[in-house]
Amino acid sequence: MTILVIAEHDNTKLHNSTRNVITAACQLSQDIHVLVAGNNCAAVVTSAQQLFNIKLVLVAYHPAYAHALAENFAKLIKTLAPDYTYIMAPATTFGKNIEQISDVSQILSANTFVRPIYAGNALATVQNLCAKQLLTIRTTAFAACELTNTSCEIKTITNICDFKLSEFVSLEKNITGKLPELTTARIVVAGGRGFQNQENFKLLEQLAIVLNAAIGASRAAVDAGFVPNDCQVGQTGKIVAPELYLAIGISGAIQHVAGMKDSKVIVAINIDPEAAIFKIADYGIVGDLFTIVPELIQALTRV
Ligand code: FAD
Repeated sequence: MTILVIAEHDNTKLHNSTRNVITAACQLSQDIHVLVAGNNCAAVVTSAQQLFNIKLVLVAYHPAYAHALAENFAKLIKTLAPDYTYIMAPATTFGKNIEQISDVSQILSANTFVRPIYAGNALATVQNLCAKQLLTIRTTAFAACELTNTSCEIKTITNICDFKLSEFVSLEKNITGKLPELTTARIVVAGGRGFQNQENFKLLEQLAIVLNAAIGASRAAVDAGFVPNDCQVGQTGKIVAPELYLAIGISGAIQHVAGMKDSKVIVAINIDPEAAIFKIADYGIVGDLFTIVPELIQALTRV
C-alpha cells in the first residue's frame, strides 16, 4: 500500500503543509513517496528527501510545473496513479485545485475518513469504496512530521505533461508576502469591518510586523477591499489554528469562526460587549480598536 504525497512549494521552499500531510499518511502506511513537481526547485527536493519516513522523492522539473497549474498537475498525477493506493495533498488552495475527498481531519480506517461539513458545525464520516483514495488533509488536524538528517533516494520523471490549457500570468506579493504564511503562522492578527477602510487596516499591518504574525481578515474586510482575498479566514477562506489568534473588529459570525475556532488562544477586541466573538475568546477586550491597537503596538515595541 504505497502513498504518493504531492508536495506544496514555491520552487524555493517546501511548504510546511506537506509535513502535516506526511503525519496523516504515516497513519495509513509506512511506504510513502513524495512528488516534487516544479521548475528550478532543487532546494525543495533536498528538503523533501529529509522528511520523516519518506522512501522516495519523485522529481518532475519543467517550466510547465512552475506555478502548479491544475491541468498539468492532474495529468502528471494521473500518469503516476497506477502505482499508488493513496494520493494525498494538503487541503490548501494548492491541494483543493487537484480534486479529492476534501479536508480530511481524522483517519478512522484504510477507507474511512472524518471531514467537517456545514462550516465545521458537523463532522461527516465518509467511506470511500474506490480502489484509489484521493485525499486532501486538513493541515491543522495533524502535527508536522519530523525532519531527518538522512536523504532518501530520488527518481526523475521525464514524461512531462504540458497541456497549455492554462498559463501563469503574474503573482503579486503585498505586505502579507513578507510576513509568515497565514495557514502555518504561530500568530495571526485578523481584522474585520470594524477597521472601516483600507487606510485604517494599515494599523493591523503594524501590529503584525511587531508580532511577526500573519494577517488574517473576515470576509467583510476582504469584500470591502481592505486586504487581498487570500487573507480571508473562515468557511470560504483559509482554516487556521495558530497558537495565538487576535480577532480585531470582527463580530464572530459562524462562517468566520469555522476557520479559526481551533486556535490555541483567542483574543478578541470589539467595541460591542455582546459581540459573538467573545463567546469563543479566551481573553476579550471591550473597547475601541483605534485606541487599543496603537497602545498594544506601543507596549509590544517596548518589550
Ligand atoms: P461585521 O459583522 O460587520 O462586524 C464588525 C465588528 O466590528 C462588529 O462586531 C463591531 O462591533 C466591531 N467594531 C466596529 N467598530 C469597532 C471599533 N472601533 N473598535 C472595535 N470593534 C469595532 N465571513 C468570514 O469572515 N469568513 C468566511 O469564510 C465567510 N464565509 C461565508 C460564507 C457564506 C456562505 C456566507 C453567507 C457568509 C460568509 N461569511 C464569511 C460572512 C459572515 O457571515 C460575516 O458577514 C462576516 O464574517 C462579518 O465580518 P466582520 O465580523 O468583519 O463584520
